[in-house]
Amino acid sequence: MNIEKIYLDEAVEEAPLSRRVLERLRGVPVEKVRDRDRFLKETQSFSLTQGKKNLWLTEFKGPLLKPCPGTDRNYLCCNYWVINAQTNCPLDCTYCILQTYLNQPLLTLYANLEEVSEEIETLAASRPRRLFRIGTGELTDSLALNPFTGITEDLTRRVRAKNVVLEFKTKTDFVGHLPSLSRRNVVLSWSVNPSEIIREEEFKSAPLEARLEAARRAVAKGYRLGFHLDPILEIPEWEKSYQGLIRELTRSVPEKDVAWISFGSLRFPPALKGVIDERFPKSGVATGELVPGLDGKMRYFRPVRTAMYQKIYSWMREPWKEVFIYFCMENDVVWKETMGFSPEGNHHLDFLFHENLYQRFPDLGLNKPERHFYAGH
Ligand code: SF4
Repeated sequence: MNIEKIYLDEAVEEAPLSRRVLERLRGVPVEKVRDRDRFLKETQSFSLTQGKKNLWLTEFKGPLLKPCPGTDRNYLCCNYWVINAQTNCPLDCTYCILQTYLNQPLLTLYANLEEVSEEIETLAASRPRRLFRIGTGELTDSLALNPFTGITEDLTRRVRAKNVVLEFKTKTDFVGHLPSLSRRNVVLSWSVNPSEIIREEEFKSAPLEARLEAARRAVAKGYRLGFHLDPILEIPEWEKSYQGLIRELTRSVPEKDVAWISFGSLRFPPALKGVIDERFPKSGVATGELVPGLDGKMRYFRPVRTAMYQKIYSWMREPWKEVFIYFCMENDVVWKETMGFSPEGNHHLDFLFHENLYQRFPDLGLNKPERHFYAGH
């Protein structure tokens, strides 16, 4: 990834993570920042494109570990936990909601990450009979900056709790530098889409074949895999494209190494359309027939979404009968019409992950899943 300049907050000058980044990015100009507030005000005028080439190394005040913010009560969420170690992303997907979500355009890396592994251990110990799924890919791509941050390796090494599965989501093929694992409690997951969508809407990301090849290399190193068909786009001839994608995916890696698969269709806050029109005038992503959902985000009509999901789900289930498939931010009607059932709520969905992993991967040594350890079921 092309970093043109590093801005270094003096507060984290001596942090081990800062030192590692500066060492690995030797040769990139560094400017020290004393007055953080003034600096942030000044750089707010950076364009999004410019922000993606400038790295801001600073500290995060407050807990770095949080419940995933997808908590709108009209849609089922999976009770995922996120580590906000970084915000913003050097890749450039046309539909990326970070373009309107973040109020700071710089690639930001929080160098006081040491504390997060303790936060994870404390959380895991507070409810030792349930499983926590925790990831770093909420406000960035988990692996895009990893070759010089090494965050993935740090977390993998430091988090020892038996009831935690870490997930790192990416659209890159940056796995060559990752260490081999002895315990297979880390999921590397890829967001995937048909090649024409990757070419036209997911700039600076790895081609589909490279992502799948990276997934195979990850398995050889002891990682488990996840795949996110998200956002599913209603492009012309989407059936042919998505059927081809599923064929390629299911032939590339064995089902037994895949921990989970999610489906989600295009959704974005209305303000994003203007940004897409301005930054990506050739993109077709926001031109379909979209309506505001119950959370205010634009989506395809429910019958359109369901029709797509039903086909994609049946194509996926033909070769793969066991893998856990779930929806990200969908309602119970869509679940029922596609899969024939719906979780009874967010906690039940959370429990179903535990149940599936317990049954399919005994080597994880998870506790026997019990509903009452998932609050509010
Ligand atoms: S990879 Fe994810 S975070 Fe990065 S630009 Fe694309 S959608 Fe946004």
